[in-house]
Amino acid sequence: MSHTQYPSALLEKAVHEFSSLPGIGRKTALRLVLHLLRRSEEEVCSFGNAIIRLRQEVCYCQCCHNISDTELCRLCSSPSRDRQTLCVVENIKDVMSIENTQQYRGLYHVLGGVISPMDGVGPKDLEIDSLIKRVEEGEVKEVILALSTTMEGDTTNFYIFRKLAHTSVKVTTIARGVAIGDELEYADEVTLGRSILNRVEFTNSFK
Ligand SMILES: [Zn+2]
Repeated sequence: MSHTQYPSALLEKAVHEFSSLPGIGRKTALRLVLHLLRRSEEEVCSFGNAIIRLRQEVCYCQCCHNISDTELCRLCSSPSRDRQTLCVVENIKDVMSIENTQQYRGLYHVLGGVISPMDGVGPKDLEIDSLIKRVEEGEVKEVILALSTTMEGDTTNFYIFRKLAHTSVKVTTIARGVAIGDELEYADEVTLGRSILNRVEFTNSFK
């Protein structure tokens, strides 16, 4: 690897920070940093503060674990959402994808990932216990499993399904067989919207 000579240690430090982001190489990082140097001091301070405040002040909804500015997120506190339907997703991006379809009026539960023994992620590392507790409270009538169609996603689906067996909740899964990629965020809105509407009972999804 060649060592670039930087005329300034501050420049080098900034390039180093930018290139630590996913998908950003040293060249792109340098281009971004030089771009910021051409912006006004006010604009760059606003840029920096947005990142600092995001990290320091962000919180997660106590109920669904979605990203939120308040203890209870906008969706959980909305009176117009259907509180009997819960959609289980891996991450916050999935909530955003499903919301974009405008086909879903229920609430969410963000697991924070999927069970993956290879990566050392077990059920206790995810928001699964809180999901079961939420369902046990009795208001939820249907749990929609909307995890990725990977082996880890399938394992997690089955684990949750078994954990919910003692409740009377209906467990469904978003329709397979449609052109959904490995991750929900890759699915186009129409396809994703349709697969939510055409969800099937989880036990039937094995056939
Ligand atoms: Zn919430």
